[in-house]
Amino acid sequence: MRLMACDACPRRCAVDRAAGEVGFCGCPHLPRVAHVCLHRWEEPCISGSRGSGTVFFGGCNLKCVFCQNYRISVRPMGRTHDPDALANVFLAQEERGAHNVNLVSPTPYAAPVAEALRLARARGLTVPVVYNSNAYETVESLRRLEGLVDVYLPDLKYREESLARRYSAAPGYFGAATAALKKMVRQTGEAAFDGDGLMTRGVLVRHLALPGCSADSAALLRWLARELPGVHLSLMAQYTPVHRAREFPELTRTLRPEEYEPLLDLCDELGLDRGYRQGVDSPGEEYIPPFAPDTPFAADTGEGGGGLEEGPEDSPR
Ligand code: SF4
Repeated sequence: MRLMACDACPRRCAVDRAAGEVGFCGCPHLPRVAHVCLHRWEEPCISGSRGSGTVFFGGCNLKCVFCQNYRISVRPMGRTHDPDALANVFLAQEERGAHNVNLVSPTPYAAPVAEALRLARARGLTVPVVYNSNAYETVESLRRLEGLVDVYLPDLKYREESLARRYSAAPGYFGAATAALKKMVRQTGEAAFDGDGLMTRGVLVRHLALPGCSADSAALLRWLARELPGVHLSLMAQYTPVHRAREFPELTRTLRPEEYEPLLDLCDELGLDRGYRQGVDSPGEEYIPPFAPDTPFAADTGEGGGGLEEGPEDSPR
C-alpha cells in the first residue's frame, strides 16, 4: 500500500509518506499506536458498563494549542503497526470485553486503518467500530471507510476561520468539518442503540466550549440544528488549560457559568435534545489521558519501539 501524494486530510500535503516523506502532521506511513485501554469515561452510550476499546493513534493533523492528548499527538508517538498487527489489536480489544473498538485520532492513517478493519472483520470482529476524530477530514477519505465504521464521534470545533487558524493551525476547518459531518450522517444513517443503550450506528457530534468563544459555540449549535436536525450532540464544558494554552491569555482559565449556561438554554431552544451535556463544573485534569510520564517518549517512537501503553482501563476523554 502506498500513500503517494498524501491527501488523507484537507491539508493535502501531497508528500509520499510510504517513501519516508512527512507532511504537516509528521506521521509516518504505517499507524503508530500510542495507547490501548478500556475507556470508562467516554459518553455512556460509548463506554457502557465494560468500557470502550480505545486505540489511541500517535500524531495528529491538527495542532490544537489546548490539546489534552499532547503527549502523544504533537509527535507521532507509539509503536508502528502494519494492518495485520493492527487488526489483531482490534480483535484483542473485543476479547478483553470492550463494547466497541474506538479509533482515536485515526485521520492520518485512514487508509491502513481501513485495511486493518477489513482484516479484523474477516477474522471475526463483531463489535461496532467507532471513528473518533477532529472532523478535519476529506469526504474522499471517509468514502474509504464506507461499510467499515459503525459510529462516528467527530468534534466540531470552530465556526470562525480566525479561531481555527489561531488555536489549531487549521485553515478551512469549518467548511471541511461540516462537509465531513454531512458525509458521516449520510454514511451511517439514523442513530441506533442496542438493548443496553450502547450506540451501534450513527453520529454523535462533540463540541468543547472554549473560554471567550460563546458566540462561536452558539453559531455551531445553530448550524447543527439547521443542517443536521435530530443529530446526537455531546456538549462539553471540561476545557482545562493544558499544553500551550498558557501562551494564549484568553485560554488560561476554565469556562464561566455565564458563558456556558446560555449554550445549554440555546440547545433547548433549538431542539438539540439528543445526546449529552456536561455541567459547568466539569473541568479538570482527570479527563487527560494518563498515557505515560512526560519524558520517555523521545526514545519510543521508532519501529517496534516502546511507547505502547496498555492498561485495563482509563479515565481520559
Ligand atoms: S495526513 Fe498528514 S501528511 Fe497527509 S495531508 Fe494530512 S497533514 Fe498532510
